[in-house]
Amino acid sequence: MERLQKVIAQAGIASRRKAEQLILDGVVEVNGEVVRELGTKVSNKDKVAVNGVEIVKEEFVYYLLYKPTGYLSTVEDDRGRKTVLDLMPQVEERIFPVGRLDYDTSGLLLMTNDGDFSYLLTHPKYEVPKTYFARVRGIPRREDLKKLARGVELEDGKTAPAYVKTRSVDKERQRAIVEITIHEGRNRQVRRMFDHIGYPVDKLKRERFGMLDLIGMNAGDYRPLTIHEVKQLR
Ligand code: URA
Repeated sequence: MERLQKVIAQAGIASRRKAEQLILDGVVEVNGEVVRELGTKVSNKDKVAVNGVEIVKEEFVYYLLYKPTGYLSTVEDDRGRKTVLDLMPQVEERIFPVGRLDYDTSGLLLMTNDGDFSYLLTHPKYEVPKTYFARVRGIPRREDLKKLARGVELEDGKTAPAYVKTRSVDKERQRAIVEITIHEGRNRQVRRMFDHIGYPVDKLKRERFGMLDLIGMNAGDYRPLTIHEVKQLR
């Protein structure tokens, strides 16, 4: 049994608060009867209608997307820029990204219509490790990378310990590729961490999210998660 406003919100019709208002407005029916009680609980068998239109409960779906650069991690953009949804036109459910990758970051992004799943995976308390490959300007000294590993003071607080390792160095072009694994997901966190130690990121890719990786995939590809993968992440 689930609260009526939650069922309406999960069908993607309105936010939880707006759904409460719809109930109070008397436009929500359960099995043909108007219901105005906010606490009302309904089961899968109950027929819920909003403004006379029955809502269909969507099955939860889960996808792994290899986001290319040049796409926003949102479901719409008021400036008409491309979003990750443009990469998945065949998916009919109302999916959204789990967390974000910057417009100019590529890599592994989960997409779902399961709000609880998304909440669990983006909450720092659950500590899902996320691994990035950052191409940085300059060749970071070991002492500087150690600072990142220990945690650095950013404007929104100190970062948690991270795993950091230089992967390759291009002395001629003065660039290095550094692997970094963090458990948080603050806005532009990896870029800000490298800015802090003086090696700005000029290319960033998320290679892994928990036990998931991008092996065998190309930018723009996506695939459903297996039931096993969903269970492991939860
Ligand atoms: N850190 C960043 O700086 N950008 C991302 O897109 C993800 C993590």
